[in-house]
Amino acid sequence: MTNFKSYLAPATLDEAVDQLNQGNVTVLAGGSDLMLRVGAGNYDPSHTLMNILKINELRNISFEDNEVQIGTLTTITEIREDPELSIKMPLLGQAADQFASMQIRNVGTIGGNICNASPAGDMLVPLLLLDAAVELARQSDDGVASRRVALKDFFVGPGKTQCQSNELLTRVSIPFSKQGFRARFYKFGTRPALDISTVSIGIGGIFNNGYLQAPRVAFGAVAPVPFMALKTMKAIEQSPLDSERIKEIAEIARDEIKPIDDVRATAWYRKQLVHNLTIKVLSDVTDA
Ligand SMILES: Cc1cc2nc3c(=O)[nH]c(=O)nc-3n(C[C@H](O)[C@H](O)[C@H](O)COP(=O)(O)OP(=O)(O)OC[C@H]3O[C@@H](n4cnc5c(N)ncnc54)[C@H](O)[C@@H]3O)c2cc1C
Repeated sequence: MTNFKSYLAPATLDEAVDQLNQGNVTVLAGGSDLMLRVGAGNYDPSHTLMNILKINELRNISFEDNEVQIGTLTTITEIREDPELSIKMPLLGQAADQFASMQIRNVGTIGGNICNASPAGDMLVPLLLLDAAVELARQSDDGVASRRVALKDFFVGPGKTQCQSNELLTRVSIPFSKQGFRARFYKFGTRPALDISTVSIGIGGIFNNGYLQAPRVAFGAVAPVPFMALKTMKAIEQSPLDSERIKEIAEIARDEIKPIDDVRATAWYRKQLVHNLTIKVLSDVTDA
C-alpha cells in the first residue's frame, strides 16, 4: 500500500489554496484517474494528498446572463442528468452519455477530466467546441485570486496543463451559443461502454441556406492534446455544404490531425476514422 506523507480534506476554497501555496500537494477529486496512478506507483509519496470533495462551493451548476458555470466537482452523472443543461447545452449530455460506466460517471468530476489532460478525455472535445474557459484559483494577499484561461490554450501536452502547482481549478464557464447553433459529438471505441476513445469528434455551427456558419470543429485522441481543427473549420465556412463538399472537407480533416500508433489503433486507422466520422457528423449537423 502507498504511504502518503499526509492527507487533508479542507472544507473551504481558502483553506485549499492556502495548502496548495505551501507546496508539494496533489489534489484528489473523484480519484478515478489519480488512484490508478497511485496503485501503479506513479505518485510522489512526499506529497500531501488533498481531497477537495468537502468543498461544497465547487459543486454547483449555475446559469448566469451569458454563460453556464459548472463547478469543478460536478460529476459526469450530474452533467448527464441536469434538465436545464440538457436543454441549453445538449452536447455536454451527449458526451456524458458516452462516458465510461455509471460507476465511473458517479465519481468522475468535470474538473478531474480537464486537469488529467488526456488527449482522449471525453468532456474536452465538447467543451472546446463550446468555447469553454476554466477558472484557476490561488492564494493572494487579499485571500483568493483567480484567473481565467480559455480551454483552447489550457492543454500544453499529454497530462500537462497551464494549471500551476499552487492553483486549483474551481469551475468551467461556457458561453451560451447563438440562436440556431447545433452540434454533435461522436466517440469511437472498440465497444460502446467503458472504452477510452480511439478518436472523438465534435462539429457545430449555425446551418443556414446550405452554409454552416461560424463552424466549430474539435478532435480528441488524434494529437498530443485535444484541439480545435482550424483548417477544417475554414474549409467548412468557405462554401455551401452538399455531399461532395462534405467528402472534400473530410479529406482536409484527415490531413489536419497528427495521430500516433498506440495500443488502441494505428495512426493510419485513426486517419481513416476521422475521415469517415467527419462525413457522418457533418452530415448529421447539416442534415445533408
Ligand atoms: C474504468 C475507467 C473508465 C474510464 N472511462 C473514461 C471515459 O470513457 N472517458 C474519459 O474521458 N475518462 C474516462 N476515465 C478517466 C476518469 O474517470 C475521468 O478522467 C474523470 O473525469 C476524472 O475525474 P476525477 O474526479 O476522478 O479525477 P481525479 O482522479 O481525482 O484527478 C485527476 C487529475 O486531476 C487533478 N485534479 C482533479 N481536480 C482538480 C482541480 N480541481 N484542480 C486541479 N487539479 C485537479 C488531480 O490531481 C489528478 O492529477 C475512466 C477511468 C476509469 C478508471
